[in-house]
Amino acid sequence: MQNRLIQQIKFNRWHERQLFLSFAWLLSCLMCGFLFVAIIEFVGVNFSGIFSILSIFVLYLIGIAIIELFRRFWMRFSFAQLCANSATCNSCGSYGAFEVRVGTRPIYARCQKCDHQWVIGQQKERG
Ligand SMILES: [Zn+2]
Repeated sequence: MQNRLIQQIKFNRWHERQLFLSFAWLLSCLMCGFLFVAIIEFVGVNFSGIFSILSIFVLYLIGIAIIELFRRFWMRFSFAQLCANSATCNSCGSYGAFEVRVGTRPIYARCQKCDHQWVIGQQKERG
């Protein structure tokens, strides 16, 4: 659970770790993209019979992997950025200096300096 992780390691380290992991997903996605293009370029799909079906099936699997890897990158990255956007205490203005309540959704944060409480990691209401 993300709350427990934020509680154990401080917010700045948690955010850094999330960005690192999300870009690892993005790098994997790009590697699959290169593999996809390389298969089309060097192997091609001009075979007849079973090889044509096989190469198209492999390209299909790589395409699915590209979509899934990009989805994982985007989910982790956007959540980390959403939390970072709401990590500043509205009362005293300190950034990332808060404790979180473990095991709750949404994530409740309590400032370590002034005890102000707020919710992090949620879209702000617009309108
Ligand atoms: Zn504060």
